[in-house]
Amino acid sequence: MNQMIYFFGTGQTEGNREMKQLLGGKGANLAEMTALDIPVPPGFTISTEVCQQYYDEGKKLPQQMLDEMETNITKLETAMGARLGDPENPLLVSVRSGAAKSMPGMMDTVLNLGVSPAVIDGMAKKTGDRRFALDVYRRFMQMFGDVVMGVEHHKFEAAIEDLKVKRGVNLDTDLNADDLQELVDTYRIIYRNQTGEDFPTDPREQLKKSVEAVFHSWHNPRAVKYRELNDIRGLIGTAVNVQTMVYGNLGATSGTGVAFTRNPSTGENLFYGEYLMNAQGEDVVAGIRTPFPISHLEEDNPEVYQELIDVRLTLEKHYRDMQDLEFTIQEGKLYILQTRDGKRTTHASVKIAVDMVEEGLISQEEAIKRVDPASLDQLLHPVFDKNDEEKTEVLTRGLPASPGSASGRIMFAAEKAEAFMKDQIARAVPDEKLETVILVRVETSPEDIGGMAVSKGILTARGGMTSHAAVVARGMGTCCVAGAGDIEINYEQKTLTIHGKTFNEGDWISLNGSLGNVYAGKLKTNIPELSEPFHVLMSWADAVRKLKVRTNADSPKDTEVAVRFGAEGIGLCRTEHMFFEGDRVNSFRRLILVAEEVKNLREEIVLEEGDRKAVLEDKLQKPQALYDQALSELLPLQREDFTGIFRVLEGRPATIRLLDPPLHEFLPKDPAGQKEMSDLMDVSVEEIKRLVNSLHEFNPMLGHRGCRLGIIYPEVSAMQVRAIIEAALTIHREGIEVNPEIMIPLIGHYRELELQRELAEETINNIASENNMDQLPFKVLIGTMIEVPRAAVTADEIAEHADFFSFGTNDLTQMGCGFSRDDAGKFLPDYVKLGIYEYDPFSVLDQDGVGALLRLAVEKGRKIKPSIKLGICGEHGGEPRSVAFCHRVSLDYVSCSPFRVPIARLAAAHAALAD
Ligand code: PEP
Ligand code: MG
Repeated sequence: MNQMIYFFGTGQTEGNREMKQLLGGKGANLAEMTALDIPVPPGFTISTEVCQQYYDEGKKLPQQMLDEMETNITKLETAMGARLGDPENPLLVSVRSGAAKSMPGMMDTVLNLGVSPAVIDGMAKKTGDRRFALDVYRRFMQMFGDVVMGVEHHKFEAAIEDLKVKRGVNLDTDLNADDLQELVDTYRIIYRNQTGEDFPTDPREQLKKSVEAVFHSWHNPRAVKYRELNDIRGLIGTAVNVQTMVYGNLGATSGTGVAFTRNPSTGENLFYGEYLMNAQGEDVVAGIRTPFPISHLEEDNPEVYQELIDVRLTLEKHYRDMQDLEFTIQEGKLYILQTRDGKRTTHASVKIAVDMVEEGLISQEEAIKRVDPASLDQLLHPVFDKNDEEKTEVLTRGLPASPGSASGRIMFAAEKAEAFMKDQIARAVPDEKLETVILVRVETSPEDIGGMAVSKGILTARGGMTSHAAVVARGMGTCCVAGAGDIEINYEQKTLTIHGKTFNEGDWISLNGSLGNVYAGKLKTNIPELSEPFHVLMSWADAVRKLKVRTNADSPKDTEVAVRFGAEGIGLCRTEHMFFEGDRVNSFRRLILVAEEVKNLREEIVLEEGDRKAVLEDKLQKPQALYDQALSELLPLQREDFTGIFRVLEGRPATIRLLDPPLHEFLPKDPAGQKEMSDLMDVSVEEIKRLVNSLHEFNPMLGHRGCRLGIIYPEVSAMQVRAIIEAALTIHREGIEVNPEIMIPLIGHYRELELQRELAEETINNIASENNMDQLPFKVLIGTMIEVPRAAVTADEIAEHADFFSFGTNDLTQMGCGFSRDDAGKFLPDYVKLGIYEYDPFSVLDQDGVGALLRLAVEKGRKIKPSIKLGICGEHGGEPRSVAFCHRVSLDYVSCSPFRVPIARLAAAHAALAD
């Protein structure tokens, strides 16, 4: 059987930083720091495997662990010259969780373990401070009762409050030793009443129960939720660290704090942190007393400050990454209780990575790998419009705890914020913009995690830069203003008052987390400026990636944004979006109104002869004229759209897809809209209803859409091809390079492509001769989307007619997995929870199924046409895991929405480096 417990301290360290899976991050780093001669209070770590075994064996502590614990307690007692439970010379320990991935505040901790009435007497005698000894005891009872035995926290709090009222004092620290003795006695009664047992005085019993409690906390709802939110998977459990207690509350020469070796918000290379003298660790993080900045410690205790600076440098040099550390000063002596890679904003992450390359600490490759591509999203969020912000009155200022800008409706409770968002999501129609929430709290705690995750911004009245709200918000990339001391929050009345101005739940406020500013109402936003280190990092990424990155854009404005973010062309221009704009939908509606009639009459005419033919030809005239007119109205509008896009692209390629959605999507479904259409087009409402009904399909996603429209109504395809080519000619004449690519959607059979290609080529030839040219002065590619499984399987036949394939993995997932794109949200989240699919296949490409279709099409396509250009334009094109897959099957490019372009660039570099 494997070793279950690993000792650290006084030259006998058994673990190291490589052992995170087994010892958890905290345990592995405590061992590592001990080996580096950094002052760490000795202790031992119970491995994560024990946690797993504990659950496997029906929640029983393994005998081997209990035996090893005895050996380690003895080792610890020898190292410390003190013994657990010894009244003369007691050893007190902390019991803390620590998984392989950091989950701050999500699991349980018990401090001051090992106290009992006899130990208190001994401690009082030894320190000459009975009040301190009793304070330690009451803190332990409270924590043990709450964390280990589930006695509600407020029962203990109420007892303190009652006692303070009785004594007529305000602060806990105003209670004297006799008061605390009385409190301890009250606690003992509360404990007994609530648990039916006496408070345990045997330290071994306390220890076993606390270890079990930490194991239990691995599965508590907030820890489970945290893992879910942060996509932490594959861990077997938490380790437990049992460590000698040191005290920051032993008077004026003691203290406690947390520090980051660099600024976790901006990445600046400056020591950054906070501390409080005469306090315990929780006091700093809880945000109840506002701590001092770390630089102030130089005045309080210059020697300790210097020692801390040395630790900072040692740790950074050793770990070659920014560290987040916790320390305690006990009567002038410094102890480091924890170090870990510090959580940071993406802004900081990029700056630190680039700076560390310049400082010679890491390589460029390492810097690229250090920045999580998905996290770049944080940098790309809109920021407040400068002019608008300057004109708006700053209501108050708090600490700039996590950068970004956010406007939202005020919610005072995390559950309320969650419910508000959930309700909106349930009711929203596709593409609807949801309203946002700002969570406003006096302070936040780990219970608030779900509400914080759905909020756009967080505002707190209390707490510093390392308070719970600040740390969690930075980790999530959510904007946060913390410790805004001037605000008053009334949870009962659900009001927020700032300098006499009162806001109610649901009112809009705005936060600038980079400045700490709070504003009333909603502010206008703009695209952010990207920092110099960002550009440097991205240039390194661009140099290593093999995949090109294009964008899905259908307006000059979106194209411009994407090009600024580094897009190398358009991979998908969905032309249907252009049909909806302004009045042009009316032209298209006119076309739909007569399309069916025109088609039927034309078919009949072919079959008839003589008089009957003439009658039909006569009958065709009017609808045909309307049909042609609609097309001629649409042509210049589409041409203008494409001209704008080509101009912005300056020669970068543009894949423009012909019309894709079913026609019914363009018709009004509601009575008011139908009435409006009827008035405008001079047809009865009944006629419009009949049209809507006739276009109704049971499975529109599998219906008359994509190339099937262009095949039945070829004039529509021809008009679009004409608009593309004429726009390209205009731009070419302006002296700007153009590279149009015409894409036919939803091909399943090669004949579909063959027909549409012939049509497109004929149109192109016509345009050339109308312009007195033998051929166009630029190259035009004609290709297809591969988004129907049949197309993937017959990709060799299709490749004969295609210059390129673009994988439409949205539809390929829909048809490959058989999940409706529009309805699968009802059960897919459960499928993911059950582990049937690891991720939602519409977000992360299902590599084994849909990916296999894609791979097959790549092989078949390249076999027939080695030079065929291959890309992806489904939503997966901007998702890092899927981008890695695209790299592995050696596509030429990925295409994604403008705001995901940098994510795809970095993800492509990660994929190349992983080779
Ligand atoms: C796709 O199906 O992946 C695709 C890009 O097309 P759309 O989402 O427009 O159907
Ligand atoms: Mg599609």
